[in-house]
Amino acid sequence: MKQLSPELLIDLDLIRENTLKLKNLTTNHSKFMAILKSDAYGHNIKKVSKAIDDIVDGYGVVKLEEAKKLREVSDKKILLMQGIYNEDDLLNLQKYNINTVIHNEYQLEIHKKLNEFSGVWFKINTGMNRLGFELDEFLKIISSNPKIKKFTLMTHLAASKNKEEKLNTEQFNLLKKAKENLRIDVQVSAVNTGGLINFPNYHYDWVRAGIGIYGGFSGNLDLKTAMTLRGRVINIRDIKKGDRVGYDGRAVAKKDLKIATIFIGYADGLPQNLRDGTKVLINNKIAEIFGKISMDLTTIDISKAGKCQIGDWCEFFSPKLSINLISDTNSLIPYELMTKITPRVKRKFINDNS
Ligand SMILES: *Cc1c(COP(=O)(O)O)cnc(C)c1O
Repeated sequence: MKQLSPELLIDLDLIRENTLKLKNLTTNHSKFMAILKSDAYGHNIKKVSKAIDDIVDGYGVVKLEEAKKLREVSDKKILLMQGIYNEDDLLNLQKYNINTVIHNEYQLEIHKKLNEFSGVWFKINTGMNRLGFELDEFLKIISSNPKIKKFTLMTHLAASKNKEEKLNTEQFNLLKKAKENLRIDVQVSAVNTGGLINFPNYHYDWVRAGIGIYGGFSGNLDLKTAMTLRGRVINIRDIKKGDRVGYDGRAVAKKDLKIATIFIGYADGLPQNLRDGTKVLINNKIAEIFGKISMDLTTIDISKAGKCQIGDWCEFFSPKLSINLISDTNSLIPYELMTKITPRVKRKFINDNS
């Protein structure tokens, strides 16, 4: 008897290949920080780290638990990108040799109190208005605290995937200004995946790449989606022109159709409102979502997909069907799709050499 549950396949070789492709783009001998927050965007933080540890210079995460987990498997630099909010956490960072970001006054006070500034990154706000010191505020802090000598100056881009967006220029200009106004020499880090690809003049000392290493950045680099989300066909039926499929009868057949029902639904992480016409792959043939996604089931128009039977796999994204396709056609982002696959979906690792 076949196991009918949906699966999430994670190809660690593809993550490594994507990482190498991105690394090859770096100018300025920049160091490469792989961003592994949120369990490596849902790909498993330890597995991903083991697959790329020899080719990266460090990791970025946002939670202390993630940082500690990583420290169990890697000796590389680890940066806690949102920083700490209490003394205990700072002591933990010391203990596990984890570097951290200071992005506001609250955090600065904790660092001052413990007189701990080793390996810190200072984040400035250059236009995203989410985290980071204002430029003048930052310069004042550095000039009035002689203890702060060595650090990395960082900022985060708000619209890096769009090369033409003028916000990018504004952000880079503010960052340049910050660097020029410092009397000490510091390292600088500005770009995420989008910035790494679109702005080669601003790679500086550290690039911080997340989505690209998982294959969720569309462009001409041919990065491969490392995840395959798939469910099995558990029913096939013929319907007549005018018949309606799924909740609320959203999908109306314009002609006679063949409908496959797949054993995967929004409780597995498929967004409930995926649109009719969204492309999926069954036996390497394109088919289309037809009807609203249910909790455990999804209906697919397989009229043009050739022969198909119970037990066949239906892929929603995979190395062969980029996650950017389902994202773009549904006004979603790959980041969210990747991180929202629910725990009940069985994970299987491919090319796991650890
Ligand atoms: C998530 C994150 C990144 C990585 O961004 P991608 O778009 O996934 O490459 C880089 N820097 C910071 C501060 C982040 O939070």
